Amino acid sequence: MIQRSPLIAGNWKMHLTIPEATALVRELRAGLQGLEAPQVLVAPPFTSLGPVKQALEGSSIMLGAQNMHWEDTGAFTGEISGQMLLEVGCSHVILGHSERRLIFKETDDMVDKKVQKAVALGLSPILCIGETLEQREAGNTYQVLREQLEGSLASCIDSRALPETLILAYEPVWAIGTGKTATPAQAQEAHQFVRTWIQEVFGEEAGARVRILYGGSVKPENIRALMAEPDIDGALVGGASLKPESFLGIIRYGD
Ligand code: PEP
Repeated sequence: MIQRSPLIAGNWKMHLTIPEATALVRELRAGLQGLEAPQVLVAPPFTSLGPVKQALEGSSIMLGAQNMHWEDTGAFTGEISGQMLLEVGCSHVILGHSERRLIFKETDDMVDKKVQKAVALGLSPILCIGETLEQREAGNTYQVLREQLEGSLASCIDSRALPETLILAYEPVWAIGTGKTATPAQAQEAHQFVRTWIQEVFGEEAGARVRILYGGSVKPENIRALMAEPDIDGALVGGASLKPESFLGIIRYGD
């Protein structure tokens, strides 16, 4: 049986100055000392990636970015390429976050290109999918998830291969930054749907291997119950990853 290593990832969004970001890393490092912890990743804003990488020197905490462009270079004012992320020391990149999709109008087609480029460069994509409250209440959750998977993984479907480094994150939009967490049972049901879809499209092995993180108001108080579900392999954490106490509490599964 394939063992999936749990991963707790912090998405810092557009928060923290460079001194605040590096101070947070120092506190996380201190708090992780001697702890048998799951894999941990932080995704600071672009401006803090270099300083955070330096502050992580010698630590097992991984570095991710929150977005990238699919082209290598060019006239794309305000954008950052995957190569630039590698240069600054990132191993992962969050793609298709609901804030990118909803506020910045990113389409599945754009996300698909980003996934392809990230994988080609050796960056592990953390591909986010999730339904809005309106979509859930209309009974369309699984249709939305299927469409996002089909669109964002269109090139993978064409090549019939799910990249080994790809990580999925199920983030119901109604639970992001709202304090409303999906119940462990609701999250498990969605994760199981996603894993089954992966199995059907890419085969048993890909379905058993792919890690699916849950995101949406994860806190030290609810992480343990979420992690007890068989198809939840970790968490993508927003607000609670900005404070050492709460992020470390999540990493310790609430202890
Ligand atoms: C997120 O932005 O990915 C997220 C899950 O945010 P929060 O934990 O604040 O709900």
